[in-house]
Amino acid sequence: MFFSFLADRYVAGTCPDPACKYVDARGDQCDKCGKLINAVELVEPKCQICRSTPQIRKSEHLFLDLPTLSPDVQSWFQNSSKTGHWTNTASAITEAWLKKGLEARCITRDLKWGTPVPLEGYTDKVFYVWFDAPIGYISITANYTDEWEKWWKQPDQVSLFQFMAKDNVPFHSVIFPACLLGTQDNYTVVNNLSGIDYLNYEDSKFSKSRGIGVFGDHA
Ligand SMILES: [Zn+2]
Ligand SMILES: [Zn+2]
Repeated sequence: MFFSFLADRYVAGTCPDPACKYVDARGDQCDKCGKLINAVELVEPKCQICRSTPQIRKSEHLFLDLPTLSPDVQSWFQNSSKTGHWTNTASAITEAWLKKGLEARCITRDLKWGTPVPLEGYTDKVFYVWFDAPIGYISITANYTDEWEKWWKQPDQVSLFQFMAKDNVPFHSVIFPACLLGTQDNYTVVNNLSGIDYLNYEDSKFSKSRGIGVFGDHA
């Protein structure tokens, strides 16, 4: 029998939040209520590829220790949201996360596609996309210029603006700032965060991954 670990979004099921219960929540996030989910919390999970019920298998993973980083994130956010430009949506989502208390988050996956983990014992795994994608902002700059540190390690000289839909806010307002602050290496952390509500298409959220909307290659 064929066996492999499924990527988060290849597991779909009912949102575990009793107030939501959306039937097509994904293994990393519910697109209806926006809650971040661990795939094992989904009610009646189904494999998105073959529609069978996935089994839970044990595997060792790396986690971000967000509880330890929480005080640093709190004080950074208080200052950034006061001195910079944050939309109400972005501030409200971040405040809700911090108020609820941060939990350790798994940042590795048993997948072939992705950035391999450069740590002995974990080299057959890759990083979870929302751990490594924001690092891309820095590495793209470093590919462009050797002077990347002028942008990314001079927070007194740079004001960083980021724009996104509201479901991506926690990755940019909590998790990535926690990583940067955790390095204690004086990185530039977002100063202005524009988190916006979804644009709807015929009563559903526009979604590239779900094929809802009008796309340039189909127009
Ligand atoms: Zn939900
Ligand atoms: Zn399957």
